[in-house]
Amino acid sequence: MVMIKVDGVFFSYDSHEALSNVSFEVEQGEFIGVIGPNGAGKSTLLRVMSKILRPRSGAVLLSDVDIQGMSERSVAKEMGFVAQDNTITFGFKVRDVVLMGRNPHLGRLDSESIQDIKIAEESMARTGVSHLAERLITEVSGGERQRVLIARALTQTPRILLLDEPTLHLDISSQLEIMDLLKRLNAELKLTVVSIYHDFNLAARYCERLLLMNKGRIEALGTPRNVLTEDNLRRVFGIDVHTYYNPLTDSIYVVPLQNSNWKGFKRGRKIHVICGGGSGGQLMHRLVDGGWDVTVGVLNLLDTDYEAAKALGIPIVSEAPFSPITEEAHDQNLKNIRESEAVIVTDFPVGCGNILNLEAAKKALESGVLTILIGADSILSRDYAKGEATQRIKELLDMGAVHAGTVQEALYKMESILTGED
Ligand code: ADP
Ligand code: MG
Repeated sequence: MVMIKVDGVFFSYDSHEALSNVSFEVEQGEFIGVIGPNGAGKSTLLRVMSKILRPRSGAVLLSDVDIQGMSERSVAKEMGFVAQDNTITFGFKVRDVVLMGRNPHLGRLDSESIQDIKIAEESMARTGVSHLAERLITEVSGGERQRVLIARALTQTPRILLLDEPTLHLDISSQLEIMDLLKRLNAELKLTVVSIYHDFNLAARYCERLLLMNKGRIEALGTPRNVLTEDNLRRVFGIDVHTYYNPLTDSIYVVPLQNSNWKGFKRGRKIHVICGGGSGGQLMHRLVDGGWDVTVGVLNLLDTDYEAAKALGIPIVSEAPFSPITEEAHDQNLKNIRESEAVIVTDFPVGCGNILNLEAAKKALESGVLTILIGADSILSRDYAKGEATQRIKELLDMGAVHAGTVQEALYKMESILTGED
């Protein structure tokens, strides 16, 4: 059943058009997140949906009834709105703030009945703020305040809850508390929840559908996986991201790479990383953050460094799990190496399966590519190739590989050598 229908809505503040032809439907019991850059029109949309603002044209229908034909009180009985700035509650006790939620149900001169008080108390219990009842609203924490405002909205006994950035300015544990609370209300009370979020990952983790807004229009509407695509986020936010599936939370998540403009600075300048077993994560992060085009290999699938590279969107030459490097993967790796300005070899454990990666480093030196070895002095302790790895590292150093004690030092030496050559 369609609960809310936003139908061709236009809205302008003076001459500035904040909503342009916005149409979408919300089904009963849905949990929807609204995202988009600052100024996209998200708050304006919620204000129009809750009848605070009147659209210039188009309509908002609540169960097929145009809200323009409904009184404010009738709308408030159907729909609770937790706005972003709530200054009107100054000086009130938590109990009184929550009880204000009964106002749409009371006659002009009525005072609250026992039934009204009971509903307010239920709301406080549901949102976990009963113990704060006698405190002043100005004297509770940000997370508690948000839960009190949700309790007030619940006291209206609505079927729909609209919230404008309920997790803004909260620490991470309070953010999760609010999200869990909303999800619980959605399940237990069959509340339809439409909320604005500024954090993609939080939204992706909890919402069934996301509405992506930009410049007063809907850019995308659908599952988090379909909305938070690399293309959409580049177009709307101007950022490069890598999105990937997190099996722990069963949701996708977004890793911002870096600002597109900043990346342009070193675009096309390639560095190849040889690593494994988690030794390359920090280095790859630093290189990507620094704007380099990074390649990595050869890595076995399931290797920690494989996962790290994938999360960073780095092209990987890979090999099947626990299999020795094949000639084919080795050749592909050499191709990346020949195209790079430098090769950085981390202090990874070397066994018979991956010793070909040290042969690749040798080929780099032979073709005149700057080659840096991190922690070469620890090779004895990670040589699982019966001394052959130790022999090969010595050979690399003799051939002119640069030694660095740490990732930091490797980056410093690489940048100064490459800049010196420019
Ligand atoms: P969001 O919540 O996505 O950041 P808003 O809905 O607050 O965006 O704003 C949309 C556009 O309308 C912005 O360009 C903003 O500057 C403008 N705007 C918002 N509120 C007002 C207002 N009260 N008067 C004039 N312009 C406004
Ligand atoms: Mg806003």
